[in-house]
Amino acid sequence: MNYSDWHTHSSYCRHATGNLEQYVKAAINKKLSVIGLSAHFPYDVLDGIENMPHREYSMPNDELDSFVFNAINLREKYKNKISVKIGFELDFVEKQVDKHHKYLKKYTNQIDYIIGSIHNLDVSLFPDLFAFDDIRFLKHYDKFEDTDDIYMSYFKTMQAMIDSNQFHFTTIGHFDLPKKFKIVPNNKELIMEEGIKALKMAKKRDVVVEINTSGLRKPIKEQYPSEEFIKEMFNLGIDVVLGSDAHHPNEIAYEFELLTELLKRIGYEKLAHFDKMTKTYIKI
Ligand SMILES: [Zn+2]
Ligand SMILES: [Zn+2]
Repeated sequence: MNYSDWHTHSSYCRHATGNLEQYVKAAINKKLSVIGLSAHFPYDVLDGIENMPHREYSMPNDELDSFVFNAINLREKYKNKISVKIGFELDFVEKQVDKHHKYLKKYTNQIDYIIGSIHNLDVSLFPDLFAFDDIRFLKHYDKFEDTDDIYMSYFKTMQAMIDSNQFHFTTIGHFDLPKKFKIVPNNKELIMEEGIKALKMAKKRDVVVEINTSGLRKPIKEQYPSEEFIKEMFNLGIDVVLGSDAHHPNEIAYEFELLTELLKRIGYEKLAHFDKMTKTYIKI
């Protein structure tokens, strides 16, 4: 099986280990057919990040050119061995979509896909953005009356992301991320309902949902999204890609065999594939 891994980070993202070439080489060693280089799009162009350690989350804006330039060179250098795809993991911050897209515009001819992700919530409890998936902010969870409020705010933000005409993306990243630290919903039915609402919107907009295996390396020990959500996705006819969210070259294609088996068991027969923001398919 020639796997495609659409979600990786590198030393450009500060908190990840290994340069771009080490990821490409590791992917070739693992006999992948596609390696997606998907750096976090810079945070330093946003407001409300003063209390967030954003310098540890992404490259600064002035390294964007270097990232794209290096990725293009690697795509050329290894074209006979692997297909290198270039993308970004782009945060959706509802009130600041234009700030990101102003800089993103320059690269639209080079990039193959964009993962739309939510790592920060804009909630009235905090003056700045709340980086809910950073373990150092776990201590703020008890400021919420009910931790389900985090899930609700998260899925409402995701619905706004899918609904936004200004926000351009191909793929929803780590769909049910608030479960990361094993804080599961109290009212599961309500949260499922909110997630399914987002999925129905995703189908309508024709964006894909990634099956992100990094959750298996986190306290929840489960991929994003859960099997229950993947079954809903299949029934809705939503396309999927696989992503390891590797932060080290060793994590490339992490547990892809396991997840491919799960997808087949649920009924999936093909995976999505992106080339210059256009979707095609590969059989599994
Ligand atoms: Zn992410
Ligand atoms: Zn990521």
